[in-house]
Amino acid sequence: MDAALADRLAAVDARITEAARGAGRDPAEITRIVVTKFHPVSLITDLYALGVRDIGENRQQEITAKRREREQLADLRWHFIGQAQTNKARAVRAASDVVHSVDRPRIADALHAAASGDVLDVLLQVNLTDDAGRGGVSPAGVEGLAAHVRELDTLRVRGVMAVAPLDEEPARAFERLRGCADAVRRVVPDATWISAGMTGDFPEAIAMGATHLRIGSAITGPRPPRD
Ligand SMILES: *Cc1c(COP(=O)(O)O)cnc(C)c1O
Repeated sequence: MDAALADRLAAVDARITEAARGAGRDPAEITRIVVTKFHPVSLITDLYALGVRDIGENRQQEITAKRREREQLADLRWHFIGQAQTNKARAVRAASDVVHSVDRPRIADALHAAASGDVLDVLLQVNLTDDAGRGGVSPAGVEGLAAHVRELDTLRVRGVMAVAPLDEEPARAFERLRGCADAVRRVVPDATWISAGMTGDFPEAIAMGATHLRIGSAITGPRPPRD
C-alpha cells in the first residue's frame, strides 16, 4: 500500500478534529466520506484497511462496478454524490446507501419507483451559485422539494447537500446552506444532515455545522484523468 495514503488520511482527520474542537463540536458526530472517483478500485481496499467505511462516487457506472467488485467489504457505506439521471435511477439506487444529489421531483420519483422494499437515505442538493444550470434546487425551492420527497415512503429525507461556488467565500455560501437546512427541518424535523466541505473548504464547512464531509484529493492524492 501507498504509505503516503495513510499519512494523508491521518493529516486530514487531525484537521477535522481540530476544526470541530475549534467550533465547539464533537468530532465523532462528523462523517468523513472519502471520494474515490476516477481512482482504481484497489484504492478502496487500501482505504478500508485504514478504517475508512464511507466512500463517495459521482458516476453511476463507476459506483455500480466498484460496489460489485468490493461486495465482500460488506460494511462499507456507498454515497452517490453525482448528478443523478432518471433513466439511471434503478442502478443508482441499487448501488447506493445514501444519494446526496436529489435536486428535483422527477429524480425523487424515479428513485422511489425503483425501490424494492428498502428505504433509501437521500439528501436534497442545493445550488448555491447564481447559475441555474448547475446541479441543485434553488434555495427558494428546497422547502417545496422536501415536502414532495417526504411523501415518497421509500425515501428518507436526511438533510441537504451542496458544493460551495468557486467565486465566493465558502463560509458565506455555507451560511446560506445552513438556512436551507433549517427550511428543510421545518418540513422534515429529523432531517439533520448537512453534506458540505471538500478538500479546499472542509474546515469552513465544519464551522458552519456540516455533518458529512466529502473529501477527495487531500486524501487520495491527485485524481487520474477522466476516461
Ligand atoms: C469530487 C467531489 C468532491 C471531492 O472533491 P475534492 O476537492 O477532491 O475533495 C466532493 N463533492 C463532490 C460533489 C465531488 O464531485
